[in-house]
Amino acid sequence: MNRPSKRLPLVAWDHAYLWHPFTQMQEWEQEEPLIIQKGKGSYLIDTEGRKYLDGTSSIWVNIHGHRHPRLDRALTTQLGQIAHSTFLGLSNPPAIRLARELIRIAPKGLQRVFYSDNGSTAIEVALKMAVQYWQQRQPTAGPKHSFLHLKLAYHGDTVGAVSVGNIELFHARFKSLLFPTLQVDPPYCYRCPLSLTYPACRMACIDPLESLLQARHRELAGVILEPLVQAAAGMLTAPPGYLTRVRALCTKYNVLLIADEVATGFGRTGKMFACQHEGVTPDLMAISKGMTGGYMPLAATLATEDIYRAFLGRYDEWKTFFHGHSYTGNPLGCAVALANLEIFRREKTLTHVRKQTTLLARLLRPMASLRHVGEMRQCGLMVGIELVQDRTTRTSYPLEMRIGHRVAQACRKGGLLMRPLGNVIALVPPLSTSPRELTKMVAILHRAIVDVTEDSASLS
Ligand SMILES: *Cc1c(COP(=O)(O)O)cnc(C)c1O
Repeated sequence: MNRPSKRLPLVAWDHAYLWHPFTQMQEWEQEEPLIIQKGKGSYLIDTEGRKYLDGTSSIWVNIHGHRHPRLDRALTTQLGQIAHSTFLGLSNPPAIRLARELIRIAPKGLQRVFYSDNGSTAIEVALKMAVQYWQQRQPTAGPKHSFLHLKLAYHGDTVGAVSVGNIELFHARFKSLLFPTLQVDPPYCYRCPLSLTYPACRMACIDPLESLLQARHRELAGVILEPLVQAAAGMLTAPPGYLTRVRALCTKYNVLLIADEVATGFGRTGKMFACQHEGVTPDLMAISKGMTGGYMPLAATLATEDIYRAFLGRYDEWKTFFHGHSYTGNPLGCAVALANLEIFRREKTLTHVRKQTTLLARLLRPMASLRHVGEMRQCGLMVGIELVQDRTTRTSYPLEMRIGHRVAQACRKGGLLMRPLGNVIALVPPLSTSPRELTKMVAILHRAIVDVTEDSASLS
């Protein structure tokens, strides 16, 4: 260590006092933690002054890079006014302005913004709104209180969000806490549950979804899904038209469509929201991660006017949506979120993303033929590289081999920070990443995959 005096107490205190998310702490305590002190653009800088490319956008939140002057300024300007006041019975200018802007850019038909703090709460809000909506809007439609979701879905870590999710490793232990749901196989073409091939299959995986809707729509409040990309599942990209079909079925069977755009929102897929690739308007839409450009925890659930109106009535009709959080509509978060959207306009971020998407696809192409790359999936600037032990049989690496983790470690040595999703390497660069940085990221990643998967000695 170069400067132990400055860093040593932090390492010791981290090991002594902290509990990190999704982390085996026994292992963590044996390792030298990477402590990030600063950031600039696509780079993170640790306490030793080492620079790393931020290959995850700090887990899918960062949009315009770190320390963007406009975002920094939006925060300090708002600080000169007030940091926080409650949204219960009061309002504030940045939250009002942001709601108007969000409705401007959202899929047409979404008309109301309900704020919360993170992706999971935005989902909880959507689930509760859906259930209460049916009670008040169409009490005779049936006890519409359950949800249909895709297997391998990830909607967050709070108990309601886990109930509609299905990542076995994360969720199995909490089964006793979860409410019952209906599930169908996702459109995971590389491992098609029906053993069919797209497009010859004509999306046969929709049929079980339709059958369930047909049989059970009277008890269903909503269908929830991550439009276009099931992110945490391993960046599973849905075939074009899948979302449109689900939308049509929800309408046909009188069930709400809840779109979880927490990962896909704010330009990540090349449109502001993934639903807009197919011109789909969900009934409820959850947004969070990229909402503040990666600066502050903030989220929202957007609803149609029809849903909103079902909650109107005299006070003693008890139709109020009784839900809220201490930091709802936080002015700092909303101010920086407004600046985030302003940068989208000023810097033509979506145009940049589309160019970078093409470049990224080109850069990744040579990797697709590596011996242990099973499938390369890309939607905008979200990439999943599924590593397999055997390409011909598509045999997965056993999870305990931690192949993704090893690739991530090799990337770190090369100066790129990554976080794998099991055997899937996820590359999610900030939208502002320059062509040069993108090229560098892919080069480091390519080298790391080759080194880890083709070094037979280390794999035997
Ligand atoms: C990250 C994520 C969530 C949960 O968001 P948090 O802010 O981590 O609670 C929900 N849905 C999707 C699709 C996500 O990627």
